[in-house]
Amino acid sequence: MKALIAYLSDYRDRNDYFLSLMPVGALSIAASLEARGHEIVLANYSKEGVRSAAAHIQSLKPEAVGLSVYTHNRTDSFRLAAEIRKRLPKTLIVAGGPHAAFLGEEILRRVKAIDYVVRGEGELALADLLERGAKRAPAADRIITGGRINKLDALPAPSRFGGVMRGIDPNEQFKYLITSRGCPHRCVFCCSPKLWGRETAFHSAGHIADEIEYCVKTYGIIYFSIRDDNFTLRRKRVLEFCRLLRERKLYIMWNCQSRVDTLDEEMLVEMKRAGLEHIQLGVESGSKRVLSMYDKRTTVADIERASAAVRRAGVYLAFYLMAGMRGERASDIGKTVELIRRTLPGDGMVSPVALYPGTALYDEARERGDIDDDIWFRSKENGIYLRGEAEVGRWIQRLANELGAIRERSWYRERDFRAHRRVVGDGCWVTDILEGDYYLDGELYDRALERYRAAADRHPGNPWPFLRMGKARFMSESYAEAERDFASVTNIVPPYYGGWLKRAESLLALGRREEARECAERAGRLNPYDFRIRNIRKILR
Ligand code: SF4
Repeated sequence: MKALIAYLSDYRDRNDYFLSLMPVGALSIAASLEARGHEIVLANYSKEGVRSAAAHIQSLKPEAVGLSVYTHNRTDSFRLAAEIRKRLPKTLIVAGGPHAAFLGEEILRRVKAIDYVVRGEGELALADLLERGAKRAPAADRIITGGRINKLDALPAPSRFGGVMRGIDPNEQFKYLITSRGCPHRCVFCCSPKLWGRETAFHSAGHIADEIEYCVKTYGIIYFSIRDDNFTLRRKRVLEFCRLLRERKLYIMWNCQSRVDTLDEEMLVEMKRAGLEHIQLGVESGSKRVLSMYDKRTTVADIERASAAVRRAGVYLAFYLMAGMRGERASDIGKTVELIRRTLPGDGMVSPVALYPGTALYDEARERGDIDDDIWFRSKENGIYLRGEAEVGRWIQRLANELGAIRERSWYRERDFRAHRRVVGDGCWVTDILEGDYYLDGELYDRALERYRAAADRHPGNPWPFLRMGKARFMSESYAEAERDFASVTNIVPPYYGGWLKRAESLLALGRREEARECAERAGRLNPYDFRIRNIRKILR
């Protein structure tokens, strides 16, 4: 069957880097359907909006369209469904994604254009639907519940999708990986346990390493972001993954998300040696009573211990924080401020407590009569918050200000890097890169180069030290040396567009326009989306 898997963010979010990216789940569904022999087009219409998307879909004439519906993009997704229905009356329109999963009946009742809602894991459910040649079914049969997929390795990886893609930059898209589904916890603000179940399914360490190796070799991706709810949930898998990255000499840098009670120093040391440079912890609050109200089942001591371990290993630390829980007081916010000052996260995000369908907070608010499912059709807001008082806005601002205020104090300095080496060992290239970056920020080029050179000597197949040496030399206007360093990058990872772009910039600075043009053209073929490549190609025309 010819089908389209589509996503579009709310048009107001079209320039939001994260919301305008295609969800990893939609990519996985497309890859799965394709592997079963369907002709699949994968489209992210976030930058185009509803009208342009509808015109494109009309020209494609798919037999079925699967839309990824989240709370934040529901309004434009429903508008798109209505447009498709108008233009292609016979096309089957299926909604999936977390918002659709929890509000299926309401959506089918209100959005007449949508034929089916897929609840839960879509890979098999959508395939079954397409393969039984679905027509409009009676209302009772229009919610399809996907069975649990326990063997995630059996699914084809999103990056193996070989069909037509529109609005998707593989260089950006495929660096986001999700390697597990489900969470054993039940924080009241989170829909993950209800969406995936409280039993977690995992990709094996070998599968993740294979996927990374494929993306490095095919797309030249050298930085990855692992978006699991909690990547460190299964310790043994993490250690095996790190071992494989090092054994295969896959020199990538990466970041991940983690719960504070599933992290320890030994794991962090192995992760850093395998390229981890940044970790985001789901901290939420520094107040014991608020943590308990969230049913977070972590303690302030857990947060302090995990943060200290992250900082000892010399990985950049970021916190996810929230404010505006029912019953939360200014004194609780004060405790979160104190926690920030004690633990020194270098970065973070503060969110108001929101009522998302599928969360315990939402169910309670509905039972109390504070909210009903109708709100998602009346309101055009991207999210509905638990508390609307101005005071909550001030708390969020206070926490954000605090994160900003301690940022400089949180930076790692010379004595920190010495301490990191004692923990992770002298041979850790990530420490060399981060220390070099610290000197580079201060325009101490020689000291930066010394660190990068040390990493390059120990790991000649690693593109990162050469990339950084090139940067330092370019900044200090040593363009010929910069070009040589960037040429090392392109030799090590030929499909990495950034190496070709940087070479082109260095060659242009040297006045070698013809060679610069060749490098810029090569970069443009590898990445037609990057505005810097478009600019230099224009200059060199
Ligand atoms: S917030 Fe994290 S730990 Fe809590 S339920 Fe959600 S995924 Fe699990």
